[in-house]
Amino acid sequence: MSESRNVVIIGSGPAGLTAAIYAARASLKPLVFEGAQPGGQLMITNEVENYPGFPDGVMGPEMMDMFRQQAQRFDAETKFQHVSKVDFSSRPFQIWVGDEITHADTVIISTGATASLLGLENESKLMGHGVSACATCDGFFFKDREVVVVGGGDSAMEEANFLTKFASKVTLVHRREEFRASKIMVDRILKNPKVDVRWNTIITDLLGEPANGGLNAVEFTDVNSGKVEKFPTDGAFMAIGHKPNTELFKGQLEMDHKGYIITEGNSSRTSVPGVFACGDVQDSTYRQAITAAGSGCKAALDAEKFLEDAAH
Ligand code: NAP
Repeated sequence: MSESRNVVIIGSGPAGLTAAIYAARASLKPLVFEGAQPGGQLMITNEVENYPGFPDGVMGPEMMDMFRQQAQRFDAETKFQHVSKVDFSSRPFQIWVGDEITHADTVIISTGATASLLGLENESKLMGHGVSACATCDGFFFKDREVVVVGGGDSAMEEANFLTKFASKVTLVHRREEFRASKIMVDRILKNPKVDVRWNTIITDLLGEPANGGLNAVEFTDVNSGKVEKFPTDGAFMAIGHKPNTELFKGQLEMDHKGYIITEGNSSRTSVPGVFACGDVQDSTYRQAITAAGSGCKAALDAEKFLEDAAH
């Protein structure tokens, strides 16, 4: 079975759904493949306080529902399906979900990014057993318990702050002696009586067995002295940045050394004419809902112009 579309959007965070709103309002009847995490990273975010238009803040999942409803109001079609393969070698492009192929005159990629991990041997074994990369998802399980958070960026500050709502103590572990997070977030953390900071420290092992209560301690190594310490804890939250979700497009689109899709100048155009990228999949710098939404708007306008030019 196959069908043809003017615009196919892959991914459904603020970038993809904004692209859907704009493409739908241009009567392009876009199809959105929502992917493995419909709504994107905001679905695992707590309250969003910095999206303009919501003076009292808004919950991430609620905001993504509103984005989706707005796109659907203008006849965007959204499918809770995960794209398994693409072929951008000729137009119309081909997009597979299992055996089903969709042909598309233009494609907008908005597959976002995923949290990075430390790469320790026990990390995947203990994931969900005391180890987590999402405080919003798992913080609740650590009521009155002690946790560590790894990282020195805004994500680490946000996660650590959020976890103090549940945990009795949060130890923030950073490999340097200065945070890279914004001043307002750092100030908030340093003032929080439930938060301790371990500077110049890395985690070199995660201790515990999934079948025996999960994580019970982490191994700290002081990066200056090399001193190793076993630090008892109930939870370890990784907040050390993100990887772009671009595996599907490897070899078909130009990417930078980290795998982010390269877009041309002040546009969403990728190295393949007719394929556009927006949101975190092409932006490792700003990574905000509002910047993602803005770039989704640009991608839809770029796709619309491309279709108009191709028709003449
Ligand atoms: P980030 O800014 O890249 O910070 C990653 C942190 O993890 C850095 O402090 C880094 O240490 C540390 N790190 C990386 N790899 C590590 C490893 N293997 N072991 C130990 N530590 C490691 O990532 P982010 O915090 O996810 O933020 C990314 C972007 O999103 C930023 O632009 C940020 O402003 C934005 N953001 C904004 C908000 C908000 O405004 N509400 C919230 C979250 C994120 P070094 O500092 O030593 O490199």
